[in-house]
Amino acid sequence: GKDTAYLGMDFGTSGARATMIDDEGQVLVDTECDYGAKAEEDWAAAWERALNELILQVPSTLRSRCQGIALDGTSATAMLVDRSTGAQLAAPLLYNAAMGDKAVAMAKEIAPPSHTATASTSTLCKVIHWHLEGVWQPAQQAGKQPGLLHQADWLASLLHADRMVTDWNNALKLGLLPPCFLHASSPPAPHYCLLSHMHCTLHLQAFATLFPPRVIAPGSPSSLVSPQAAAHFGLPDTCVVGGGTTDSIAAFVAAGVSEPGQAVTSLGSTLAVKMLSTTRADDAAFGVYSHRLGDSWLVGGASNTGGAVLRQYFTDDQLIELTERIDPQKPTRLDYYPLTKPGERFPVNDPSMQPRLAPRPADDAHFLQGIFEGVANIEAGAYEQLHRLGAQPKVTEVHTAGGGAANDKWSAIRAAAIGVPVLKSVHGQASYGSAILARQAAKQYHH
Ligand code: ADP
Repeated sequence: GKDTAYLGMDFGTSGARATMIDDEGQVLVDTECDYGAKAEEDWAAAWERALNELILQVPSTLRSRCQGIALDGTSATAMLVDRSTGAQLAAPLLYNAAMGDKAVAMAKEIAPPSHTATASTSTLCKVIHWHLEGVWQPAQQAGKQPGLLHQADWLASLLHADRMVTDWNNALKLGLLPPCFLHASSPPAPHYCLLSHMHCTLHLQAFATLFPPRVIAPGSPSSLVSPQAAAHFGLPDTCVVGGGTTDSIAAFVAAGVSEPGQAVTSLGSTLAVKMLSTTRADDAAFGVYSHRLGDSWLVGGASNTGGAVLRQYFTDDQLIELTERIDPQKPTRLDYYPLTKPGERFPVNDPSMQPRLAPRPADDAHFLQGIFEGVANIEAGAYEQLHRLGAQPKVTEVHTAGGGAANDKWSAIRAAAIGVPVLKSVHGQASYGSAILARQAAKQYHH
């Protein structure tokens, strides 16, 4: 209805954000909250505080009209809880925590070659770590029900009290094989590669009991808010919590693209590209993998280049000043490969690649243009590489978000390098993408 509101929440690397939208996608509330100075001592408590604060920052009249909520969290951030009480059994391991060689070797035995679950930071490696360290077994022997929850799952469980459910996107790095049949009437049972793989030995399967047994599509209805949460937050008891996603996919959803070939580049400190594709593409060596999103695949990769290089040379004010003197029509042909330190993974996989930022012209505007062109060429190479690895069709249109997206001259240089239009996203915030998923879940539920 006209007065209905939907709430999306983003739990990113440095803080949390909430966006409430209406049926038309207009923003009703946009609010932020950081995790606090002592967050590292107890991440789960810090996230829970942020969740509380964010929801209570929404005016109560809007909360009482909220029919859907969805959350995103950082990918491969996970913890162990007791499924019957929600008590923490193992503190969260964060998205960027790399597990040891033994865990990685075991993950490689289990997951298909080049699956992203074989990366040292994957959720699968984190479970194996808890297994090898004997973290979950004593809890089970003591009669508890240990289970893994991703950050987004855990936060959602504080709202709906279901500690058995996750979504396709968060589960990917746990080794989920997303359903390949788009139009299956009901989602198949979760299919983790762990559970199906031939080499799976018995003792490995033991920890499969930790995996969330229910895996749903992002933006599909999960459960209603619990009576306790409804009362505490002043939410209607008809408010649905939807399947969540990861922060970078939520940012993609925020751009509102829907056709294969449409892409979103995030140009912040680093450069990340994502494109809707009719086919999947995966290559762990390049850090390229595919998520299921709606009826398509979301294929993406990330380069080490990006705005961080600019910060090494210029302040943001200098960037604006120097940009004025840049003429995108007159390329410098300096052929830079801007990096802050050696090493690149995508579009070229070369751990020893050196930054290339010489020769440096006397004119800083010229130098800056050379860096813009260098990053633009890497972005163009990134979309070419996705296509080479199997993404279909070739990129047709790039939407762009992040600090670099504000620079129209840079966008013109990028459009020329990629050969397609580069459009500034109206909504670049992950929390806006989560709000879109919340609206989708509510509509499906109340349909
Ligand atoms: P993060 O990835 O850290 O969240 P942001 O999306 O906030 O980053 O983007 C910050 C980056 O944007 C900085 O690295 C900065 O160099 C770049 N940036 C800021 N202003 C401009 C500008 N006018 N032109 C080009 N780049 C800019």
